[in-house]
This record gives sequence, C-alpha cells and structure tokens, in this order.
Amino acid sequence: MEIRYKSTRGDGTLISASQAVLQGLAPDGGLYVPDSIPALETPLEALAEMEYKQIAFLVMSKFLSDYTEEELRECVEKAYDSKFDTGLIAPVVKKGQAHYMELFHGATIAFKDMALSILPHLLTTAARKNQITDEIVILTATSGDTGKAALAGFADVPGTRIIVFYPKGGVSRIQELQMITQKGDNTFVAGVHGNFDDAQTGVKKMFGDQALKDELAGKGFRFSSANSINIGRLVPQVAYYVWAYSRLVKEGTIKAGEKINFVVPTGNFGNILAGYYAKLMGIPVNKLVCASNDNKVLYDFFKTGIYNRNREFILTSSPSMDILISSNLERLIYKVCGHSAEQNRQYMADLNQKGVYTLNINQIAGLTDFVPGYADEAACAEEIRTVYEECGYIIDPHTSVASAVYRNYRKETGDETPAVIVSTASPYKFSRSVMTAIDSKYSEMEDFALISELNKVSGVPVPAAIREIMDAAIRHDHVCEIDGMVQEVRGFLGV
Ligand SMILES: *Cc1c(COP(=O)(O)O)cnc(C)c1O
Repeated sequence: MEIRYKSTRGDGTLISASQAVLQGLAPDGGLYVPDSIPALETPLEALAEMEYKQIAFLVMSKFLSDYTEEELRECVEKAYDSKFDTGLIAPVVKKGQAHYMELFHGATIAFKDMALSILPHLLTTAARKNQITDEIVILTATSGDTGKAALAGFADVPGTRIIVFYPKGGVSRIQELQMITQKGDNTFVAGVHGNFDDAQTGVKKMFGDQALKDELAGKGFRFSSANSINIGRLVPQVAYYVWAYSRLVKEGTIKAGEKINFVVPTGNFGNILAGYYAKLMGIPVNKLVCASNDNKVLYDFFKTGIYNRNREFILTSSPSMDILISSNLERLIYKVCGHSAEQNRQYMADLNQKGVYTLNINQIAGLTDFVPGYADEAACAEEIRTVYEECGYIIDPHTSVASAVYRNYRKETGDETPAVIVSTASPYKFSRSVMTAIDSKYSEMEDFALISELNKVSGVPVPAAIREIMDAAIRHDHVCEIDGMVQEVRGFLGV
C-alpha cells in the first residue's frame, strides 16, 4: 500500500514521502502526517531473529513508499555503521525492575543520532528523486542534542549546508562544546539570547517566510529541517520501538503478542510519538508513559485536556526536555480531532495567540494510550542515585526523569507489565549533574575531572564523542538576538 503525506493544517493535498522529507514543515505551517499508518505485517516471532538494520529497513519501507528498496537499504547501511560503538546499535539492558533501551551509542551520544545519522541520506536521496539541484540548507533549533547530532550527520555532505541555533546558556557545557567545535565548511552554529522555544519559533518563522524562501530559491538555496517535525526523523525512530519489542521476545521476557509499556522522557513529543506509531503499526503496547521534568506542560495537558504554555520556563538538569511548545504533539492533536485540519488550525492559532487551547471530551478520549508523569529536579537527582546504588548503573538526567516517573507509576498503579525505559543520552554528556546527584562532593570539580570520575565510578569507557572535544578548537563563536537570526542565516549563505 502506498503511503502519502498531508499537512495537519492543509486542504488534504497528498504528497509523496520523499517530498515530505524535503519540505520538513508544510508551507501552511502544519506538520506532515501519513494518510494512514501502515501495518507491520511481519509476525512478531520473526522480528526476534532480526538485526537492528533489518528492522529499520522493514519499518522505513512501510512508511517511505516512494523510496526504492535499493535506496532505502543504502540509507540504512550508511547510517547504522561503525559510527555506533556497538553492533547492536541500541542495546536493551535489564536493570532492577525495568529494561533500559540505550539509544546513545551513536556519534553524539544522544538518541537524536538514531534518526539524524540517516536523515542526511534520506534527504539527499529525496533531492535526487525529485530532481532538486538547489543546495539544501538545513535550518535547526536545538535544545542541546539535535544540534550536534544534525551537525555530525550533515557535516561535509555534498549539496547541503547546516545552520544550528541553540539557546545561549540553556544547554550543558559539554553540549555547547560539542556544537561549537564542529568541523565542516558547510556548518554554522550560533547561540541565541533566548530559550529553546524562542529559537524554535525563530526558525519556524523563517520556514514560513515565503518572501525569504523565494529570494533564497533565486540564489539556489532551499530550506529543509532536521528538527523532529520532519517525517524523515520520525519514521526512523519508529524502528527502535519495534526493535525493543523484538529484544524482549528474544530474551524470553515476553511471548510474542504480549504487551509491554514504554516510558519516554519527553520534550518536543517526537520520540514518544514514534512509539505511538509503532503501536498503531501493530506492536503490542499497553501504555506509553510520557515523562516530563519541571516544565510539565504535557503532564498537565494529559491530565486535563488543556494545553497551556503560559507559565514560567524552568531551566533544569535535563535541558533537552526544557520545552513548553511540544511541536510534535500537533500530530496527535490532529488525529484526536478526527483528522480535522480546521479544528487543529484553530487550536494551533489559539496556542500562538493566547498560549492555550482546550480539547473537548471526545478529543480527550483519544488520549488514553498515554499516561503522564513528571519528576522534579530533586526526584531526578534521587533517581540517579537510587539506580546507581541498587544496580551500579549510571543514567543521565533525562533517562532519570523517565526512570523516576516509572518507579512512581508502578507504585501507584501496580501495573507490572514489562517496561522499557527509553534511555536518551549517555551520562557522559551530563557528567556534572550526574556526579553531583551521586555525591555532592563532586560539585567542586572541573568538567573534565568529572568525566574521569564518572569513568572510575561506572567502569564505562569514555565515549569518543567526549574524548574528541577535550582538546578541539572552537570554530563557532556567533551569538545573536532572536531578531537577528535571519541576519545570521543571510551572513552564512552570503545573500
Ligand atoms: C531530544 C531529547 C529528549 C526529548 O525528546 P523529544 O523527541 O523532543 O520528546 C529527551 N532526552 C534527550 C537526551 C534528548 O536529546
């Protein structure tokens, strides 16, 4: 069955998968969604015998209908190779009461690598298929991890340039160093005086600026997005939910057909939405537990049906979840509105103008696959310490938010369905928060000293991604105001 894509705010016009990948965001400001969710069809028992790459190919071939088998196989081969430090790509490990799916074994040690190591290939293939000769300009706002993963994915990819904006002061020092030391003549990084939502809104504005796009098109440039609004990021993420299920079958934790829970540390709602798509494809999922940090806009939304971003933006130790406007939620909203672009448009306009919208009773009834939870800073630190003391296993603050939420969920509901906690970053990326959570004595130490302490305490080798930045030269020192983002883009493109 051929899957085509339409905008959550549009008139129902359908485009091919490769066109949707090229566009990123729809011209009307909406997000592309598949016109139906394809069924997995492969028997669940058979999945248990597959490798990661086979599952990735299988899932993507269902969604990306106009890519040939050969094209997709090539994309998968190029993406999931020795950039990952384990042939398993995404190990699923049992610790204490839960399984942790480690999605941080790629080049930049955060889960964004799972999709961003393949997106450049999906995108350049899409350009070729659609006879696009313009240079593709990837424009990205990052809460910390997307930026580096996108830079690593696109650096020196012919026919592309990549521009990343991050909130100055809103990311960890390691995250910032990873970005500002990025090599590649086609890369550009700037800090923005503002928070992630400001940076994301600035980027979305440029995508929506037709005059700017026309002007750039005249000069041979074409914008695309590496943010999780691009279906080229969402679809590869569906694969690891299928993979996690297959691992639990393989090791005998469940029999094929039995349900599992997923617990997902959530910010922009891209990761957990991919889990929902896996469920809709036919993976037996009981609940998707949506874990938030102190910026618990999603928790409140799932509890009440009211999405309200009018609140203080809190900087936490899990910066990649410091988000008040979860872009990908729009795809779920559209679905629970019975695929009404009109209703969705209204809600998104309300969000934009008043900062709040309220679902009706019928729409709220469409949210039951999700269970919300949140962990504040103290609970997050305590969970890091507890998991370390109980299992000798060290988790990063994002994973810890999910782990704490799961501990609480299990206690409150008694739900003993086997659970997979989606582990989104290596603790090395957040060594300061992690080490001080384990013992306050570490708060005096320098960042790099903490890395060797973490190495001693965990026994896990220091990843290449960290070793690289220890003495790398800083190559990007641009800082701008929100109003100045367009000027930065113009400057880098020379227009
Ligand atoms: C991006 C990110 C998240 C949040 O994922 P979303 O898809 O934005 O919900 C969680 N943890 C880490 C480490 C991340 O990089």
